[in-house]
Amino acid sequence: MIDSHINTNDFIYALKEGKIVHVDSVANGLACDCICPSCNLPVIAYNNPKNKNAHHFQHYS
Ligand SMILES: [Zn+2]
Repeated sequence: MIDSHINTNDFIYALKEGKIVHVDSVANGLACDCICPSCNLPVIAYNNPKNKNAHHFQHYS
């Protein structure tokens, strides 16, 4: 489903309301309301303050 684009790994920028946003600038989890810039599917933000070394977006599936 998501292997048709090159950005299948973790990424730190996503689209929110048509703008590129950094993972640290949005709400945690699916509440970030962001989509993947490559495939426009919903993404989940992982920006838990307790896990600062692993902030990223992943596809919601
Ligand atoms: Zn994608």
